[in-house]
Amino acid sequence: MRVAVVQVAVPVPLPRLFDYLPAADESLPPPGSRVLVPFGSRRLVGLVIRQSRVEPNERLKPIERVLDAGLIDAVMLDLFAWCQRYYACPPGEIVNLLLPGALRRVKAFREAPAEYLALTAAGRAADLGRAPRQAQLRDLLEQDICSRKALAERGIGAEIVRRMVDGGLVVLTELPPALPAAAGPPLNPAQRSAVAAILRQRHRYATLLLAGVTGSGKTEVYLTVAQRLLRRGRQVLILVPEIGLTPQLVRRIERRLGCPATVYHSGLSEGERLAAWKAAADGRAQVLVGTRSAVFLPLSNPGLIVVDEEHDGSFKQQDGARYHGRDLAVLRAARLAIPIVLGSATPSLESLNNVELGRYQLLELKERAGGASLPRWRVLDQRGQAGMLGEPLLGAVARHLDEGGQVLLYRNRRGYAPVLICNACGWQADCQRCDAHMTWHQLPPRLQCHHCGAQRPMPPRCPDCGSPGLVPLGAGTERLEDLLKQRFPQVPVYRVDRDAMSGRDDFESLLAEVRDGRPCILVGTQMLAKGHHLPGVTLAAVLDVDQALFSADFRAPERLGQAVHQVAGRAGRAERAGEFLLQTHHPENPLLAALIADGYLAYAGQLLAERQAAGLPPARALALVRAEAHQQGSARDFLRAAARLLAGRNLSVTGPIPAVMSRRSGYWRFQLWLQASERARLVQRIADQLAKLHELPEARRVRWHVDMDPIEI
Ligand SMILES: [Zn+2]
Ligand SMILES: [Zn+2]
Repeated sequence: MRVAVVQVAVPVPLPRLFDYLPAADESLPPPGSRVLVPFGSRRLVGLVIRQSRVEPNERLKPIERVLDAGLIDAVMLDLFAWCQRYYACPPGEIVNLLLPGALRRVKAFREAPAEYLALTAAGRAADLGRAPRQAQLRDLLEQDICSRKALAERGIGAEIVRRMVDGGLVVLTELPPALPAAAGPPLNPAQRSAVAAILRQRHRYATLLLAGVTGSGKTEVYLTVAQRLLRRGRQVLILVPEIGLTPQLVRRIERRLGCPATVYHSGLSEGERLAAWKAAADGRAQVLVGTRSAVFLPLSNPGLIVVDEEHDGSFKQQDGARYHGRDLAVLRAARLAIPIVLGSATPSLESLNNVELGRYQLLELKERAGGASLPRWRVLDQRGQAGMLGEPLLGAVARHLDEGGQVLLYRNRRGYAPVLICNACGWQADCQRCDAHMTWHQLPPRLQCHHCGAQRPMPPRCPDCGSPGLVPLGAGTERLEDLLKQRFPQVPVYRVDRDAMSGRDDFESLLAEVRDGRPCILVGTQMLAKGHHLPGVTLAAVLDVDQALFSADFRAPERLGQAVHQVAGRAGRAERAGEFLLQTHHPENPLLAALIADGYLAYAGQLLAERQAAGLPPARALALVRAEAHQQGSARDFLRAAARLLAGRNLSVTGPIPAVMSRRSGYWRFQLWLQASERARLVQRIADQLAKLHELPEARRVRWHVDMDPIEI
């Protein structure tokens, strides 16, 4: 006689669900319920995935308590099952994504009091002539969305707030109150037809790829569509690649749509995340803005999903559940039967391939909004030039500064110099745990490995030959900043990278300073290139493209094209025409020539044809099985055994081969490449063999995982 059980996903890294009996005298909770269960000697919060019947055995334990019956809806449970199978990841990792931290705690989470203040009708009408502090607060609330934190910063204390709440003049709410919506700028014909094309699909699933050159007004397209859907009470979910991009976008949304935008990302406190999650679930939050994990937010009445900068690699999670936020968003839109817009100036080859296959609809914005023109491009031959700042480049910098412009220089290397070398014997400072050089940093002085984080003091002389002649080779952002300050002492030079901008506010306040428009030089890493509006920049330059031209990673040319176009897009936004410079030792390189001659979409089309010819993604599906171990042999042995298990018809298995960085943090890293023309076959094969992979005796000596659709090799 089989007994009824529920299969529960618990937040542990084990590749299976666990069976539980119902709590005493209770019926089985439905799928999607949040439950408290005993797990070994612990108690854990888990999620009921399905009901089932099994042979009775004495190890079966009952659920301790049902915390929320049916909390997660069928669409999200379906997404859960898909994710688990497709990405071959432990179910517990997905529970961590579906439930905010506060809902995974065994002890009930104490919610903080509401954060925002809104005026009541009585508050608006009250005569506050004799209470100037209260009148000041009322004036503020009439103009702006105010949180208790913002008021404290303006010197309005909790006592004033409490008095007004007690008097019924002000109420506390979890969401910021609405403000009148501001009209947007008039749309140009291309924007108008994009809006119309999206709205035509508003009652069904469709993926629309909005490919618009930087400055073409993609955001205005999203917002115009969002406004129409909000009026019908539908929710809009906007995914962005980075937390750093949210404050700008949130302010713009709130001003433009007159409705609060609810933010969801890992930088929030547990309480803030819970409040946002609940507001999304019950529909109070109409506009949601978040990073990749926001794709798992529950929505009560969804109308549109937007993925901004859809090409960005940070939509792919690199540990635990290795999902792609953009791809899951597309799947979710399909299940919800709503449209999804993927926006980018430099779309991924994956999305362009889907356009070619007729799965996605392409909407192009070829011109900049507001009549601004695209920058002129110029290639600077670096051969014969000393270092990264050659005279032709410095001449252009000087000219733009003289004309009152701002200059942006892109160099994707932090630190002072990427290599420290001995002039006498050729010794180089290498990381002892990675297959990599250590970067020389000056502030504070140290050698640091950018892959494992290891640090060492600067050696006073060469450890091999004792010579004092240790010299930096190449230049990172720190050294460029120094050189630029010496050369252009009359203007501020700002460095933008993870070392200089450790706090999120650092970057925000720097941007505010730069936007006042006075001449300055910005030098930095990709942090600088990502979607920030810098209207004063008239000259942008990529200082070195050569490394990407000869990389072992098949995605390098795509990333290069994206970075180059993103940087070029920073130049000349307002009425001033811009200039874009590209430095290289290989001006005749055909890849570079294509990138410069034809614009991004033509360049990407060429890369896509090359990938198709080579049988690489997105033409064929790719999954990696990665393994790492302290002993090279252990990683290889596991992958050889895995290769035997995974081999099958219409599937190619290559390896074990070393990763591009074959040693990191003391681990040797190898991988298997699994490729198939049919993605479904690849997914099926891995799903069929996954349990056996986990049971391999060789698996005990390695750390390993499957990475479906990897973006790093
Ligand atoms: Zn030496
Ligand atoms: Zn290292």
